[in-house]
Amino acid sequence: MKPAQFDYQAPERLDELLELLADELTDVRVIAGGQSLVPMMNFRLAAPELLLDLRRIDELERLELGGGELVVGARVTQARLLRELERDGRWPVLAEAIRHIGHPQIRSRGTVCGSLAHHDPTAELPALAVALGARMTARSSAGTRQIPAEEFFTSYYENALAPGELLSEVAFPAWPAGRGWSFQEIARRRGDFALVGAVATVDRDGSGAAVAAARLVVFGAAERPLLLDEVDELLRGAAPDAERVEAVQRLVAETVTPVDDAHAGADYRRANAARLAAAAVERAWERSGGV
Ligand SMILES: Cc1cc2nc3c(=O)[nH]c(=O)nc-3n(C[C@H](O)[C@H](O)[C@H](O)COP(=O)(O)OP(=O)(O)OC[C@H]3O[C@@H](n4cnc5c(N)ncnc54)[C@H](O)[C@@H]3O)c2cc1C
Repeated sequence: MKPAQFDYQAPERLDELLELLADELTDVRVIAGGQSLVPMMNFRLAAPELLLDLRRIDELERLELGGGELVVGARVTQARLLRELERDGRWPVLAEAIRHIGHPQIRSRGTVCGSLAHHDPTAELPALAVALGARMTARSSAGTRQIPAEEFFTSYYENALAPGELLSEVAFPAWPAGRGWSFQEIARRRGDFALVGAVATVDRDGSGAAVAAARLVVFGAAERPLLLDEVDELLRGAAPDAERVEAVQRLVAETVTPVDDAHAGADYRRANAARLAAAAVERAWERSGGV
């Protein structure tokens, strides 16, 4: 199919783009890598009147990981971030998640911020943003505001950006040495969107024998990535023995709200979200403490 007719502009300056994006009388959308938007337009699931291309705005190319934080601008592709992470070695869980996104051809055009803004609840990057406690920067002609990842993803394909706002960058907090991690997903084929998945990080305490902090996110099992706050309480202060891991598994099964769709049933998603969450916690613990 072909898209409905639309206008197209590729401004060179961010302030120019934000002025155009502020036009409330026109259905304006930004286009980043086009890997989700173009198929949606071809299927007429989206019919913007004006497309604003980000590709000529140099300041959106920002990619910084020299300091503590990892800062990723709106033009940074998934492939470019993956290359930098592989070179750097920190945020290994983010690198592992990106390897599960589509194929190299998709990742070489698809952007990190585009995936976050698009918010498919089975996509890898929204889950990682929540698991790692990322901070989103929203820019508009009226100013700039920060949105924690936990508040950014609101429902299926929806986010907390207001009309006229651009997700200009995302910042991931520093990655501490010795942090354990695990990324788990089930997909029908390599490169497909996940049916369901889980991300865990575990930090050991000074003794090395107990959990100091744990974070668990499951995705593909609700309308947005779910951060299970109770997991930190369940695991903190001891080693995650079989009993504790089983408690995590039960908690996930009771908390998620999956739906049936053409790809998998709700029961399948619930059972596997719980199973992957338990496996993720165990693997993150094994990897923690520099193991
Ligand atoms: C065959 C195929 C397989 C794929 N497999 C996977 C997969 O396994 N996992 C996965 O996660 N994804 C997958 N994708 C999607 C891919 O990751 C996309 O790149 C991503 O979802 C969107 O990024 P984009 O830069 O292409 O955004 P675009 O398609 O350009 O935009 C997507 C939406 O986000 C908006 N948007 C984009 N950037 C911004 C911004 N900075 N601020 C505000 N709004 C913005 C656009 O207006 C649009 O509504 C796949 C895509 C294809 C075609």
